[in-house]
Amino acid sequence: MKAAGWGFEEVTAERVVLVSDDGEVLAGTGARHIEYPIHSEVMKRRPDVGAVVHTHALSSVAFASLDVPLRALSHDGAWFAEPDIARFSATGSLVRTAELGAALACAIGDGPGCLIPNHGLVTVGASVAEAVMGAVVLERACKVQLAAMAAGGPQVWSDKEEVELKQRGVDAGTDQRRLRLPVPRCGRRPQLAPRLDELVFERERRGAGARRDTDLREDVGEVA
Ligand SMILES: [Zn+2]
Repeated sequence: MKAAGWGFEEVTAERVVLVSDDGEVLAGTGARHIEYPIHSEVMKRRPDVGAVVHTHALSSVAFASLDVPLRALSHDGAWFAEPDIARFSATGSLVRTAELGAALACAIGDGPGCLIPNHGLVTVGASVAEAVMGAVVLERACKVQLAAMAAGGPQVWSDKEEVELKQRGVDAGTDQRRLRLPVPRCGRRPQLAPRLDELVFERERRGAGARRDTDLREDVGEVA
């Protein structure tokens, strides 16, 4: 794991230590993080996990304090909604013991990570890159929902089926066919298509009288 005392951007191969399950530094010369049981206990229980990230990221801590479900307001949220991301609430203090680490691993289960109210977040992945990306995306999802809630929302978010499609990474075109949703032509949403009289007004306002009505009809988009 990363040696203690270094920022993420300062980590080099020399600033990494190999730590046993009981916290002994087996290789490397750096100091060991106090919260090593988060990493060791999760990896002990999840053979599919090759890396664990733990941070005290601002938006995740603020969002976790609200004790509300994380919704798929954005693509980011879809990673951690349906089911709602786990919470480890046994303590908001540092996870210093194997017992607490094991309880946290239990809370994560087979999921992608957890929020720790009054503390931070944990994400897991098959690789360092995957776990780090998870942490970045989770923090962003929390930030988006905080913004929506501060504005009086949210009112809409992706439902379970849409979230599952996003989680599987299915491309947008296939999504539409599978869900049997009407696919707006030209990528326009029907309710947002400009009306013909609005386009005429716009043309007159700009003094661009050279365009023909057929051009205007094309702008309307032949929406289904
Ligand atoms: Zn911590």
